[in-house]
Amino acid sequence: MLVVGGGISGLALASSLHRGGADVTVLEQASGFTAAGSGLSLFGNGFRALDALGLDQHIAAITSPHPPRGTNGTRRHDGRWLTVFTDEVTAHLRIVDRTELHTALRAACSGVTVCTGMRVESADDTGVDLTDGVRFGGFDIVIGADGLRSRVRAGWSDPVSPRYAGYGAWRGITSRPVPIHDGGETVGAGRRFGIAPLRDGRVYWFACLTGPESTRPGLEVLRMEFGTWHDPISELLDATDDDAISYLPIEYLHGRLGSYVDGRRVLIGDAAHAMTPDLGQGANQGLEDAAVLARCLRPIIADPRGIRIDAALHRYDAARRPRSQTVARQARLLGRVMQASGTAATVRDIGMRLIPSAAASAASVRMQDWNP
Ligand SMILES: Cc1cc2nc3c(=O)[nH]c(=O)nc-3n(C[C@H](O)[C@H](O)[C@H](O)COP(=O)(O)OP(=O)(O)OC[C@H]3O[C@@H](n4cnc5c(N)ncnc54)[C@H](O)[C@@H]3O)c2cc1C
Repeated sequence: MLVVGGGISGLALASSLHRGGADVTVLEQASGFTAAGSGLSLFGNGFRALDALGLDQHIAAITSPHPPRGTNGTRRHDGRWLTVFTDEVTAHLRIVDRTELHTALRAACSGVTVCTGMRVESADDTGVDLTDGVRFGGFDIVIGADGLRSRVRAGWSDPVSPRYAGYGAWRGITSRPVPIHDGGETVGAGRRFGIAPLRDGRVYWFACLTGPESTRPGLEVLRMEFGTWHDPISELLDATDDDAISYLPIEYLHGRLGSYVDGRRVLIGDAAHAMTPDLGQGANQGLEDAAVLARCLRPIIADPRGIRIDAALHRYDAARRPRSQTVARQARLLGRVMQASGTAATVRDIGMRLIPSAAASAASVRMQDWNP
């Protein structure tokens, strides 16, 4: 089996297929795996997917045994709480360092053929052609785990394309531990700041600003836009090295695929449903995809002649497409609310204050209530 893309979804799937007895090759365009310099929220559904993939031990080594301490929810710039999430939302929430997650997934792929510096140009039912003209062929299934700008997806007839969501995100991890009491997001007009503690006391933070894509240097913008917001935002910025801050225009896959399967090509993760990061679910959904696809392919690995591959792939599509597309739609909607400006931001804040904690938490609790 061929997996295109060595990100979270591709590596998680490849390691599980390999442990199940499949011969797996991963092609990754990057010439090496570099430090990511940001964090990631894993929720209950993501952890259940990791368990199903047999990755629980690898992940336990990089996650805190406890959920983040203190209150978690949404605040105003002066620190007053607008929404406080119930413990049910955060009971299984863990913030991981992306670099550590990627390293753990790479380690779990021992035995998998992982080829770096291989940029795929196009894919068909039995393999791929690289941009330098080299062909990798003879595979029974080609899995596109190659992200938002997937080349494996390029032959699909659905009119989908990457689209800028109207805001950009700066992300960083403090270079030293910073004591924090509470986590979550703080919202203003067209801007927000997120605080998420890592297991070793360092803090992952992100800052989003509505507007055209930015070319301004990180700390300069962030001090100007968030410098007067509540503690410990300034301290987090001070504790982060300028060159450790990355900027990303937020993009998502506009339009919806009618199927995640075309012949023997199948899509997982951002290649299938890249979503805005507002629910912290993109990677969690990619892990769900990997867990379900691994389950659907297991009988084929055990007895290649007994089970029809097409039927297995269509079972995967039916199980994954509705849920992941719903989550993507909800993420986009939430992003619009959280990045609201002017009067809409005032209405949002009043609305948030009026919604009881249990009601504000219900959607996240429901989203995490997933089993492979
Ligand atoms: C600001 C921000 C914050 C986020 N926070 C969270 C969060 O808290 N929780 C969460 O669950 N998700 C979060 N996400 C989403 C999450 O990062 C993505 O959903 C996840 O990384 C997708 O993983 P993937 O493996 O499917 O795709 P990618 O990470 O895009 O990996 C694709 C891989 O394929 C490779 N590739 C691409 N094209 C080719 C090609 N032509 N040939 C060969 N290789 C190729 C790429 O180099 C890459 O390694 C966030 C996203 C952003 C932008």
